[in-house]
Amino acid sequence: MNYDVIIIGAGPGGIFSAYELCLNAPALKIAVFEAGHALHARKCPIDGDKVKSCINCKTCSIMSGFGGAGAFSDGKYNITNDFGGSLHEYIGKKRALELMQYVDGINLKFGGEGTKLYSTAGSKFKKECIQHGLHLLDASVRHLGTDINYHVLENLYAFLKDKVDFRFDSPVDTVAAAPDGYTVFSRGEAFSCSKCIISVGRSGSKWMERVCKELNIGTHSNRVDIGVRVELPAEVFSHLTDELYESKIVYCTQKYGDFVRTFCMNPRGAVVTENTNGIITVNGHSYEDPSKHTENTNFALLVAKHFSEPFKDSNGYGESIARLSNMLGGGVIVQRFGDLVRGRRSTPARIEEAFITPTLKATPGDLSLVLPKRILDGIIEMIYALDKIAPGTANDDTLLYGVEVKFYNMEVDVDKRLESCHRGLYIIGDGSGITHSLSHASASGIYVARNILEGAQ
Ligand SMILES: Cc1cc2nc3c(=O)[nH]c(=O)nc-3n(C[C@H](O)[C@H](O)[C@H](O)COP(=O)(O)OP(=O)(O)OC[C@H]3O[C@@H](n4cnc5c(N)ncnc54)[C@H](O)[C@@H]3O)c2cc1C
Repeated sequence: MNYDVIIIGAGPGGIFSAYELCLNAPALKIAVFEAGHALHARKCPIDGDKVKSCINCKTCSIMSGFGGAGAFSDGKYNITNDFGGSLHEYIGKKRALELMQYVDGINLKFGGEGTKLYSTAGSKFKKECIQHGLHLLDASVRHLGTDINYHVLENLYAFLKDKVDFRFDSPVDTVAAAPDGYTVFSRGEAFSCSKCIISVGRSGSKWMERVCKELNIGTHSNRVDIGVRVELPAEVFSHLTDELYESKIVYCTQKYGDFVRTFCMNPRGAVVTENTNGIITVNGHSYEDPSKHTENTNFALLVAKHFSEPFKDSNGYGESIARLSNMLGGGVIVQRFGDLVRGRRSTPARIEEAFITPTLKATPGDLSLVLPKRILDGIIEMIYALDKIAPGTANDDTLLYGVEVKFYNMEVDVDKRLESCHRGLYIIGDGSGITHSLSHASASGIYVARNILEGAQ
């Protein structure tokens, strides 16, 4: 089978590159290879009844399939260069923002119309944060919500399905350079293309590493973010979340000078588990539909850990800590803040007696047996700092779920066009290590599609 362009991975990076290509060059023959299922077939078997915890499916329906890792996410598209990736370092700040705004327009056109765009511009909280040693990062946030995000994906698929050859349940095994482009091998078959876009996301990180070795593409890595997910009554953060929806706040600890940050805030949302390569970590989401709101708000507190030579396996370090929590708790551990600072484990009775109902069934335990002291100290210090702008954060009943790990793909060597040392082979999205978010990954997809279109003229 011959194609003009083969896209590997149907996450936001792959979807938006396919969208831009077929919108502007309908004659192009495009295929998308996706390891996971079509959107309608993506079902996590955990039903809380017969299947209570992860059974390690061959392809994880939460992380893989049409829509990628973000399909069941909260659908927060952060339009900013301040976080979410370093795309601007390759393509410039202005262009990166323009592309994120363009993606926002597409999301609105495909079902997101009427959803709210929040902004930190002119917010009084900036000053309040600074007064307490906290820094509120600038961003506009389009909150689609889990429900509308899914609906947008359904509509995008309906638009693309007759224009693009989608191959689901088709993991790509290898990519090999060929005289006129590339040969892509999947399920024992060979497919050729003149251009290839690789957008395999976080779940494709190990695959990406192997392909880079095979094709002699340079890589470098050394960061992992480790922390907990905090859950508290929605009222505690409502003054911030009502105005900003998500506030990205950074704090520099007095004890070690480490940076701790809030991440992925879900007002009136739920804490969920996530399976990365068989390791259970914690995450969160929330719905746009008020009937699905909970009484709690959750967000992560993460400490960035950068390693220097000779240690290279930052993700391995994060995985080991997550494995330790899985070993002790059989999955995710939950602990009351009051129990943590008193140096005692949480028990089912203490969780039961608390004035907050957990949205995730996790094992009551002791996070101090899992998290390194330096990371735990940073988290505790930040909780007390946040308590000054959101009194109640440091209440005894505040729940901490662990561990939350934000793995980073190793950064792949690409040029300003996001093209590797092999002409016509582009590496984008979270799989490239350059983006870590829906908006940056999507923008990188539009960007390479335009580069390919420009080159074809
Ligand atoms: C629970 C959760 C909530 C999140 N919430 C948010 C949020 O609110 N806002 C935000 O900005 N970000 C969020 N994120 C992160 C966001 O989802 C990712 O940054 C984004 O999806 C990256 O897009 P991508 O296209 O680069 O990769 P992905 O979305 O990971 O897609 C990559 C796709 O490639 C496929 N693939 C991998 N290897 C192969 C192979 N060898 N062959 C074929 N296919 C392959 C995978 O199956 C996958 O479907 C969340 C992530 C999770 C897990």
